[in-house]
Amino acid sequence: MPRKPLGELIIEQGLASAEEVRRLMRRAEQTGGLLGTLAVNEGLLSRRQLKKLLAEQADVEPVPEGFRFNVDLAGLLPVRLAKKYGVVPLKSDRRKLAVGTAEPENVAMLDELAFATGMEIRPYLMLEGELADALDEVYSDAVPSRDVPPPPRTQTRERYAPPPRRAYEPEPGTPPTAGADNAAVSLLAEALELGAHSIHLRLSEGRLEIRFRLGGKLEPGPAAPPRSSRTLLNQIKVLAGMSSAERGGPQQGHFRTNVGGKPIAVAAHFTPTLGGERALLRLEARQGQVPGYEELETPAELVRLLDEAGESRHGLVIFTGPPFSGKKDLIYSLLDRLDLRHRAVITVEGQTSYGLTGVDTLRPLAEEGLSYPGAVDAALFQDPDVLFVDDLPTAEVARRVIGAAYARTLILLRLPSSGIISGLLALRQMSDEPFLFASSLLLAVSQRQLRRLCPQCKRPYSPSKAVLQSLKISATRPFTFYEAPGCAACEHTGSGGTVNIYEQLEPNAQIRQLLAGELSIEELSRAARRTGLRTAREAALDLALKGEVSVAEILRLT
Ligand SMILES: [Zn+2]
Repeated sequence: MPRKPLGELIIEQGLASAEEVRRLMRRAEQTGGLLGTLAVNEGLLSRRQLKKLLAEQADVEPVPEGFRFNVDLAGLLPVRLAKKYGVVPLKSDRRKLAVGTAEPENVAMLDELAFATGMEIRPYLMLEGELADALDEVYSDAVPSRDVPPPPRTQTRERYAPPPRRAYEPEPGTPPTAGADNAAVSLLAEALELGAHSIHLRLSEGRLEIRFRLGGKLEPGPAAPPRSSRTLLNQIKVLAGMSSAERGGPQQGHFRTNVGGKPIAVAAHFTPTLGGERALLRLEARQGQVPGYEELETPAELVRLLDEAGESRHGLVIFTGPPFSGKKDLIYSLLDRLDLRHRAVITVEGQTSYGLTGVDTLRPLAEEGLSYPGAVDAALFQDPDVLFVDDLPTAEVARRVIGAAYARTLILLRLPSSGIISGLLALRQMSDEPFLFASSLLLAVSQRQLRRLCPQCKRPYSPSKAVLQSLKISATRPFTFYEAPGCAACEHTGSGGTVNIYEQLEPNAQIRQLLAGELSIEELSRAARRTGLRTAREAALDLALKGEVSVAEILRLT
């Protein structure tokens, strides 16, 4: 369905004559203004009518007049992103986040929001003029420095440049034969082999585009196109227990399958779009079995600290890092090393778990009457020695978890955030007793995943002076960086899997004191650096100099 121009919609709905619209369009062209705004200013349309029209044009719902924004949602969407794009969180049910935006069709933006929040983003239309007030309302209490500063403009552009696209023409009339049987499974196999976390499928105007999310970045999907796009999508829907005929609204489901002998869990989210359909497949528990520290390339010093923390009777270990950085792998490696014969271990996980023998998992499912806080309570009633909590949806959960960590339980907490400092600050903000939080904190770990350069085609190169400057490296020193232009072995992506970088902070007395008292971020950062905490960027630079990752990967981290 092609998008109708606003002018046409105005005429069609009898809000103005064709003559009036033509006059406005001429004025819009002369003044560089927007047709809709002009129409409102001239009294042809009310703001409400304009909103309704724009929503109709983008095929989304408008945010109702007098909508009451919820300050509690500010924590779900970083203020930096909200302000960068003019996006306001409206409501959320843990997996989905509804946002108000003037650009509901900005796919790159929606992708970035989905990536940053780990949730499915549902856009609703708001007018430019409404956004500023709504943002002020929702983010009135936000501490702006909780987020890393936005990267310079040029990097932003580089970062979000759309990857090279491979669109596939479905063969019209191809029947779903037995040969197409394994299209879904082959796609999963290929994604797993490349180490992808998720698969993005986009059917638009009858063309299917497949991309893999590798180390946080979208890459072109499989070299061989599926025989029929529609068949592939239907196969996935059937596997996930959805209705394949249903294209009217969003659908989601889960399924488990075996790919090359490895068990894998897939969470599928489908949503219709203006020109077709989008699907996101999250691949979970990719290994089927818990990876060891060795497989995760965890440095010896961190292994020692994790083992030490694992021996503690009670306390809090937090695992920070952006979504898709493999935090759960590291947490399960720790769980796997615990003496399960003598310790009761429970996990509360919204998403699929590894299913470790001897470890019980509680899955909060609001639809089935078990809320997240309810699941955490139920787990704590079981008096576990060790409890892994994979999310902190509310301050209430934060209080329970911190209270338990202080008194009697070893709590492992997964906390999506850009790094240790921002993670600690976010948690402290959620806890109403910073003293308990500060005293129970045993260790904070941050993890990020970078794309490894393809070992087959990587070669030394000299970055430009400008790049070296942005890395704050003096060009006079003989540094060697590497790049991978792409070859047959890496399917011309230049990428050879992923590599992890870790940082850890073992709080000393001074850091505890800062966390418990009136702290400034600068003081905390300085104190953390004195304990040897590096930034993700510094760690990435080390890897770049070893030829493991590209310079672009370092810039991506800022
Ligand atoms: Zn290569």
